[in-house]
Amino acid sequence: MYLKKVELQGFKSFADRIEIEFGPGINAIVGPNGSGKSNITDAIRWVLGEQSMKSIRGSKLEDVIFAGSSKKKPMGMAEVSITLDNTDKLLPLEYSEVCFTRRVFRSGESEFYLNKTPCRLKDIQEILMDTGIGKDGYSIIGQGQVDLIITGHPDDKRAIFEETAGIMKHKARKKEAEKRLEETVSNMARIDDILAEIQNQLEPLKIQKEKALNYKKLYERLKQLDINILLSEIMMIEKKLFNLKRVFEDNQDCLQKIIEKRKAMKQKMEQDETNLENYEREYNEVQDRAYDVVSKKKNMEKDLHWLKQEEKRLQVQHQELNSRKENLQQKISESKNTLAQKTRLLEQKFKEINSLELKIAEEEKELAKKDELIKQKEQLIENLKSDVIDLLNYASEKRNKMTSLLSLKTSLANLYSPLT
Ligand code: ATP
Repeated sequence: MYLKKVELQGFKSFADRIEIEFGPGINAIVGPNGSGKSNITDAIRWVLGEQSMKSIRGSKLEDVIFAGSSKKKPMGMAEVSITLDNTDKLLPLEYSEVCFTRRVFRSGESEFYLNKTPCRLKDIQEILMDTGIGKDGYSIIGQGQVDLIITGHPDDKRAIFEETAGIMKHKARKKEAEKRLEETVSNMARIDDILAEIQNQLEPLKIQKEKALNYKKLYERLKQLDINILLSEIMMIEKKLFNLKRVFEDNQDCLQKIIEKRKAMKQKMEQDETNLENYEREYNEVQDRAYDVVSKKKNMEKDLHWLKQEEKRLQVQHQELNSRKENLQQKISESKNTLAQKTRLLEQKFKEINSLELKIAEEEKELAKKDELIKQKEQLIENLKSDVIDLLNYASEKRNKMTSLLSLKTSLANLYSPLT
């Protein structure tokens, strides 16, 4: 038998699930201080049923659960499984591989599994007993424990040797048998006490028994009497029932006739009801029609009244129209007269206009002639204007000449005066 595999999840420094495989022979785990080597042996010790937290370097149950780190949150559960190779059948089980699992939650709840099947811690302990790999076995020797074995107390050494020799199991069984024997002795003492107690109660119980037997006899008699009374009552009831049956049979014919009569009456009643329903329907129809006629009559009366009013209104309107027509005819004849007068006047005016137009045409002709004359005059004036301008230019030229001659004369006079 050898340890094949250890699986850890949430146990101490191992937050994530890891699997460590071992082979037959010597295997070693190396790593820097504080990397978790001892945590692996603690895990193995723990899964094998270690109850003392001190042995696995903790103080309370929760200490085995990953407490969190700067990068990871604390976990709520720790789980450890170890798989042992059992091909040599050292463990008293028929499996060639045995897997022990232990799980603990922060709530304190603990679970054990044997090959994934829930089991008790006791089952695991019994299987491991005398194999040397129990929690107290010599197979797990922690740091400084070798010294302890050598220098330890003889009793501790003896426990290790006994485990090695395979007599631990028998010792445990002996302890259990002694415990059971002690329990049996105390049970026997208790039974003796109860016996003495019962013997004291024997005499009163005898009296009670006689009373009970007497009561039983009386009760039987009472029961018999009750049965007799019941039987006589049943007979009376049967007699009454027989009489009632005869009366019932007598009444049966009568009842049949009544039923037939009732049936015929019912049929008639049904017929009457149908007739009544038909009458009612017809009556309702007639009534509906009458209502229709009355409402139509009312409507027609209303219409008639309205028509009469309308007639009156139209008559008044007619009269008005007639008077308006007469007025209009009068106005038309007046207008016609006015129109004739105006037409005559207009004709006269037209004539006047024609003569005026003729006059205007003549005047226009005259005007054109005068225009032509004016144009000629204007041309003449224009010619005269340019003549005037020429003359003015000539005059100014002459004047300038005269001014220059005068100034010449003055200068000549000034020139010759001192000589004189
Ligand atoms: P050494 O070689 O010094 O004996 P080691 O490799 O055996 O060291 P362990 O003692 O197994 O190391 O591991 C100790 C580490 O485990 C410590 O860093 C400690 O903080 C960590 N540890 C212990 N319990 C928990 C826990 N519940 N949650 C998180 N980390 C834990």
